[in-house]
Amino acid sequence: MASFYIIPKLNYYKPRTLKEALALINSLQNFKLIAGGTDLVVDLKTGRIKVESIIDISSLNELQYIKINEKEIKIGAATILQEICENKALREEIPALTEAIESMGSWHVRNIATIGGNLCNASPAADTAPPLLILNAKLKLESIQGKRIVPIEKFFHGPRQTELKKNEILTEIVIPKPPKNTGMNFLKLGRRNAFTLSVVGVATLVSVKNRVFKDVRIALNAIAPTPIRAYKTESALKKQKVDLKIIEEKVKIVTEEIKPISDVRASAKYRKEMAIVLTRDSIIQSLRRIGLILEEKA
Ligand SMILES: Cc1cc2nc3c(=O)[nH]c(=O)nc-3n(C[C@H](O)[C@H](O)[C@H](O)COP(=O)(O)OP(=O)(O)OC[C@H]3O[C@@H](n4cnc5c(N)ncnc54)[C@H](O)[C@@H]3O)c2cc1C
Repeated sequence: MASFYIIPKLNYYKPRTLKEALALINSLQNFKLIAGGTDLVVDLKTGRIKVESIIDISSLNELQYIKINEKEIKIGAATILQEICENKALREEIPALTEAIESMGSWHVRNIATIGGNLCNASPAADTAPPLLILNAKLKLESIQGKRIVPIEKFFHGPRQTELKKNEILTEIVIPKPPKNTGMNFLKLGRRNAFTLSVVGVATLVSVKNRVFKDVRIALNAIAPTPIRAYKTESALKKQKVDLKIIEEKVKIVTEEIKPISDVRASAKYRKEMAIVLTRDSIIQSLRRIGLILEEKA
């Protein structure tokens, strides 16, 4: 069990604009950004993170929005999870993200925690990562020098390590709209049914033509140092007939792509077994979303 202690005195900054925030992080040294604080405050209290200053970006309106146009969905990094979860258009367009967020924490946590905080904290179990990975999301990183766009699969470098430079803020998540007739889904296995971190989480996306897989995308969390795409398993399924036996055979490949550890939540062996089961179930659910119901034989 982690022991908690009183957070030492910190300098607290609350910039009024993104420009002010970017200037501040460019000039300060030993600091952390804080959005909802649902990860950071725990880290400060356990002493895992020690800093002199915190910069509060939770009130920056410039980072709080959901915009949808014909091609893309754009979500401001400081948008709270509950707002994303309640957005009907997002539920329709990209249900895997809605389902992942619904599985996170409690209503109270989701009302303060942000999507950007979940990604930048870079936990291997971050639940917004698998759906954003299958959606080929891109992340906009900004500093006073300018902006750069990074594909989400290049963003995670390791547990709590990301592509962000010291003077950069994640400002926006850009999600290309998936083609019509695409089915997607997120499934999470935790130690309880609710209010729990992933033992394994899987997001899948499928599209099918003449009962053959045209596209298959699979992403998992809590089974490697970072959330991952399972490209080998995807390739094995592409161009295959949509058939339960074939799916069950091919999803076993996922164990070659993951490197789970044993920890307080589950053993590595259990995670491997569950990664197969959840990948299979998630594909079946995604197929169901496009009207393909597979018969399970008794
Ligand atoms: C009770 C409880 C239950 C939880 N359940 C889940 C769960 O089921 N699934 C799950 O994935 N997580 C869960 N979490 C973890 C946490 O709530 C999420 O990761 C949340 O989305 C973090 O967002 P935040 O805004 O609170 O981040 P913060 O704590 O404010 O920040 C987290 C980190 O990201 C950095 N950061 C934040 N925003 C930015 C930005 N825009 N640019 C650059 N850096 C930034 C901060 O400096 C910090 O290092 C839970 C936490 C609690 C306390």
